[in-house]
Amino acid sequence: MASAFFNILLVLLTLFLVLYLKRMLALGVCAVDAGRSSDAAVCEELSCENDKLRKINNDLERIVEETVALFDITKNICRTLDEEQVFQTFCKEINKYVSVRDCRFLKPGDELAEEQDYVRLPLKIDTNQLGYLAVSGLDPNEINKFHILAQQFLLGIKRAMLYKKVQELAISDSLTQVFSRRYFLERLKEELERSKKYKHAFSFFMLDIDNFKTYNDRYGHLVGDAVLREIARAIKENIRQVDLVGRYGGEEFSLILPETDREQSLIAAERIRQAVENKLIKVYDEDLRVAVSIGISAFPKDGKSIQTIIEKADQALYRAKQTGKNKVCCCGQ
Ligand code: GH3
Ligand code: MG
Ligand code: MG
Repeated sequence: MASAFFNILLVLLTLFLVLYLKRMLALGVCAVDAGRSSDAAVCEELSCENDKLRKINNDLERIVEETVALFDITKNICRTLDEEQVFQTFCKEINKYVSVRDCRFLKPGDELAEEQDYVRLPLKIDTNQLGYLAVSGLDPNEINKFHILAQQFLLGIKRAMLYKKVQELAISDSLTQVFSRRYFLERLKEELERSKKYKHAFSFFMLDIDNFKTYNDRYGHLVGDAVLREIARAIKENIRQVDLVGRYGGEEFSLILPETDREQSLIAAERIRQAVENKLIKVYDEDLRVAVSIGISAFPKDGKSIQTIIEKADQALYRAKQTGKNKVCCCGQ
């Protein structure tokens, strides 16, 4: 009896043990499974983060590249102060930033002959309509970038225009250091008023370098520029302090000789012509000889307005050129 009871107890104990072990095993497997699935979730999360970072990195790289390209374009555009060259540089560089097939700078009223897929952007400085920037083959997604680029172009054009204006307003010509045309004409106006008021005569010269183009063609523009400087110097060395010299155009100078009539001024003009003729202009390795022709008009004999005085001197200069150059001609002679 006691042994039967003991056997039943043993069986129950074994059963309990088996059940207990089974339960423990099940819990263990669950724990491993849970561990495994949480590792996968972390991995997935990390990979997601990685993708996001890679995308941010790519975006940043692209932004840096675009900013550098924009900086380069702006820098190169701003190297020149000539409007035409600003546009040439812009055209050469635009594809560093946006992809286009063709680029045009249209002035107001200009029309495109071919009506392709041109995108036009009006360009304005203050209220001044400069024209349009027109590009073809532009991806519609890049329109904003094109607008940014156009702002840089506008900046370059603005600088070139300002430079031109400053040059125009400048009192002296930067190459020859005589008065600029604009300033000289202001002084001519003043001299006319003064001479009218005090009933004085004054003389006006139009001086042009003879065959100047051949110096440029033969020796280059730098030599031509040096010749211009030397002629300006020779003129200044042979006039009085009260006389005024201006650069009227490319290789043309104009002079005002206050309180000097036509006959007196003829002596001064001849002195200048001879001084230039006798001057040996040393430019780099060359010794050059240059000549000038001069046309003279005088107030009040030859004209009483700026326009007539200039016209009469021009006509006299034309005659000097027509009759052999390297000479002085007076109005009415
Ligand atoms: P002419 O005896 O009839 O006056 O003939 P020219 O050769 O002197 O006159 P033309 O009008 O044929 O040529 C003038 C030249 O002057 C052409 C132009 O390129 C040159 N020129 C104008 N401005 C400058 C300048 O600032 N520097 C230089 N180097 N050349 C200039
Ligand atoms: Mg000329
Ligand atoms: Mg000339």
